[in-house]
Amino acid sequence: MISVAQAQSLVRDGITPIGTETVSLSDSLNRVLAENPDARIAHPAHTVSAMDGYAVRAENIPTVPGTLSVIGESAAGHPFEGKMEDGQAVRIFTGAHLPSGADTVVIQEDVDRDGDTITVKEIEPGRHIRPKAQDFNIGDTLLISPLRLSARHIGLLAAGDRPWLQVYRRPRVAIVSTGDEIVLPGEPRSSSQIVSANGPALSSFVKARGGVPVHLGVVKDDEDALTAIAEAAKSADLIVTSGGVSVGDRDLVRKAFDNAGLDVGFHKIAMRPGKPLMFGHLDDTPMLGLPGNPVSALVCALLFLGPAIDRLQGLPGDAPITRLATLGADVNANGGREDYMRAVLSHDEDGSLTATPIFAQDSSMMGALANSDALIVRPIGAPASKLGEAVPVLPLDGLL
Ligand code: AMP
Ligand code: MG
Repeated sequence: MISVAQAQSLVRDGITPIGTETVSLSDSLNRVLAENPDARIAHPAHTVSAMDGYAVRAENIPTVPGTLSVIGESAAGHPFEGKMEDGQAVRIFTGAHLPSGADTVVIQEDVDRDGDTITVKEIEPGRHIRPKAQDFNIGDTLLISPLRLSARHIGLLAAGDRPWLQVYRRPRVAIVSTGDEIVLPGEPRSSSQIVSANGPALSSFVKARGGVPVHLGVVKDDEDALTAIAEAAKSADLIVTSGGVSVGDRDLVRKAFDNAGLDVGFHKIAMRPGKPLMFGHLDDTPMLGLPGNPVSALVCALLFLGPAIDRLQGLPGDAPITRLATLGADVNANGGREDYMRAVLSHDEDGSLTATPIFAQDSSMMGALANSDALIVRPIGAPASKLGEAVPVLPLDGLL
């Protein structure tokens, strides 16, 4: 059995980025940049005032107080077109062009005004000015690919006048739930059937990660039906199944995908929850076979599917990053599988984190996972740990 880290690097190495497309800036949130866009305008585009006040020439006020006469006004969008001469000042507002001849802005709090005469009470030569291109110049590279775009990146690209962008295509992820007992939410069901938690959860996970979920529904534990769906799913960018992947007589996913020509990478990993986890390729399409238990399926999604979708979008596909937290309760020594314990987080006054494992660690318990905030990572063979010790945790916020 391979380790989680080995499996993660096999998944990462087994996936290559898909193609790119052009999108408008307004549609680019959460997309992964596939170019290094440069600025089509400088920011600021002109030398402007950083405050409301008066544009002056510092040498005209060698000592304070000093007086100047106001000859006009420069507001954002309405620059003063004339030239300031000695002894003159221009009323100016934040973002307005600095008039020609001025080199300093005196804030309005440091000025007394009487008609068109101002008395300057304080001056710091050169202050309150934003020089042209202080932020970036025309032609400067604004961002480097690959990068998942957030609001702050979009703001920067807008300021640089980049209304369209080259981004990685959204990967189409085929999702197949398997099991004779599984029906979709809201479907008629017999007393022996249960509702698919995995289909909707995995679809949401894929969407949140920037992919397009293509839910192929529920397939019975039937070799022919599973083989047919494997064939049908080949045109996706990634195939994800849930259930039917362990070693029971009715676990037919491996057999069916073998029939369809699966080149298997691994089929079992040393982790809990989620020992049965399959990865391979059908022709060139990567395939992840997740365990059926809903908690196992989602923990495996976090550790393997998320990085796989990232990788398809040109990102490195790194494993999610752990943080350190203080244990809120004792935990037992761990055995031969890396354990991901469901836990609640609390933020202490100094900002540090405490992670307390919850009682219900059974891999079928969706309520327990939904009400957890983090997974405490217990390495293989970790000794018992006491309350107060530091442990690595994977916060779920924003990920699951
Ligand atoms: P399996 O891996 O097929 O043996 O399934 C393991 C457990 O997960 C069984 O109790 C299944 O009923 C359950 N299970 C499988 N698929 C789903 C699903 N889509 N939603 C909820 N539970 C599931
Ligand atoms: Mg099953």
